[in-house]
Amino acid sequence: MIFDPKRRKEERSARIGMALFRMSQAIKKMTQAESDALGLSPIQIQALLFATYTRGEMATVGNFADSIGTTHVTAVKIINGLVKKGLMSKSQKPEDRRVTLLVLTSKGEEVVSHIKGFGHSLEEALQPISDETIEKLELGLGSIISVMEKRGDLVVAEPCLGCIHFRPHANDGATPHYCNLIQKYLSHEASLKECPEHTPSP
Ligand code: SF4
Repeated sequence: MIFDPKRRKEERSARIGMALFRMSQAIKKMTQAESDALGLSPIQIQALLFATYTRGEMATVGNFADSIGTTHVTAVKIINGLVKKGLMSKSQKPEDRRVTLLVLTSKGEEVVSHIKGFGHSLEEALQPISDETIEKLELGLGSIISVMEKRGDLVVAEPCLGCIHFRPHANDGATPHYCNLIQKYLSHEASLKECPEHTPSP
């Protein structure tokens, strides 16, 4: 039989695609069980975590919609459900009133303190796998995520460090860092939060 590297790669890619699909189904089942225990849906938990870890001005309905790959209308429905439960509040962005910012209420913060271990079942499931395999998996998944991000299938929010727009230690005082994109000084704490506009430096 003639070795055909192109064909081999296609077959391998198809197997990986199927494995990822099966994993996504299993993860869905695990996270559903965890979120049921909290009286929330997995997507509501994602919204709470988004508002917790995303930097203030970037924690918008639009960015949340992008981060979960849904429409603005669907994202609004999810957020409204959390507003009704008293877990989240909405406000208009002062510089652009068309943009809605998301903030956790104190009740929402309380709930988040209980969901910081969300995804724990998945971590447990990975425990028996060797460190070497986990390292390779991390590298491989990183490559897949990077390709999906470039294709626009996925939004990966990251802190400021390593972003092309980040100017660390540009100022004295409480807001030492500067973002060239939004043209604002940032506190160190703000720079550690996730930002959907993060653009990796080459
Ligand atoms: S420096 Fe980059 S990651 Fe930080 S706020 Fe600006 S765009 Fe976002």
